Amino acid sequence: MATSKSPDAAPQSPEDEEDDYMSMTIAEPTGPKVKETYTQRRHRLQREAEARAYTKPKAEREADEAAAREDALQRSLLSHPTTQKSKGLAMMSKMGFTPGKALGKGDNADARTEPVGISIKEDRGGIGMDNEKKRRFREEVEKEGKRVKADEGEYRERVRREREEGRLEGLIGTAMRVAERMASEKEEELSTDGGGDVPPKKGAQRSKPLKTVNILWRGLVRKREEAERDRRMRYDLHQSLSRLPTYDDEDEDKDDKKALGKTPIQYALVEDLEEEDPELEEFNALEPAERLQKIVNYLREEYNYCFWCKYTYPDKDMEGCPGLTEEDHD
Ligand SMILES: [Zn+2]
Repeated sequence: MATSKSPDAAPQSPEDEEDDYMSMTIAEPTGPKVKETYTQRRHRLQREAEARAYTKPKAEREADEAAAREDALQRSLLSHPTTQKSKGLAMMSKMGFTPGKALGKGDNADARTEPVGISIKEDRGGIGMDNEKKRRFREEVEKEGKRVKADEGEYRERVRREREEGRLEGLIGTAMRVAERMASEKEEELSTDGGGDVPPKKGAQRSKPLKTVNILWRGLVRKREEAERDRRMRYDLHQSLSRLPTYDDEDEDKDDKKALGKTPIQYALVEDLEEEDPELEEFNALEPAERLQKIVNYLREEYNYCFWCKYTYPDKDMEGCPGLTEEDHD
């Protein structure tokens, strides 16, 4: 610690100071120090000892260390004083290496001009952790991007398919109603021609078991009857809740009672509706287009009716109809 170098270390006159400066290369200043009194000397030594003994507070020390480290990291490793003296660098210089330039051929533009830098690790994670984190993050981002794209395509395709299926289901419903109507008209025709049976009243209960209904429109009938059953059950429930079951009016005749829902309604078809119908399930499992085509074909074969032309042809040839499918009628 060269305290004599600083002017306030030992108050001296200007000439003395110059002398002091000149004497710096000499190990121990001589001349001017002679004037020092015993007390002065004691004080000076005390100050010097204090200065030597002074330990910076921990925070200050750490700040100094951090600053030194930062400073070192900012500068090129090659310009560091210890590197300058490095034997390795000297050897490389002899072989043509100049600091600041890349190793190897001069046209190697992407090459490193600096040695691999030092990065201080401050956490307790393993060395590979940061890279692993980055890799995972990149993968997540890539995956997400792909997923979004796939989802978009998938979504459009699904919407398109659902729309087409909905349209076909609508057509199937219409075709089923046409087929049901034509079949019942033919049946009526036959029964009146056949033996003078009383034709079935409009809106009369269907008397046939559900399973004898043609599979092509059985689904339609079943749905309608299920809706009717539910309507009646709601009606019954409503009646039973709004009227005391014991309440009986002498004036109400049998029909009134039935209308009011007091006489339990016999659902002739409820059992039918609760029964399993594997044949119908199988038919419903077919693709909508296939179901539609089956009904369309049935209408042609049975009634010379083209669902697409909406026309009943006079004979089996169906002359004028462009074909079996919807596309044929475009
Ligand atoms: Zn046609």
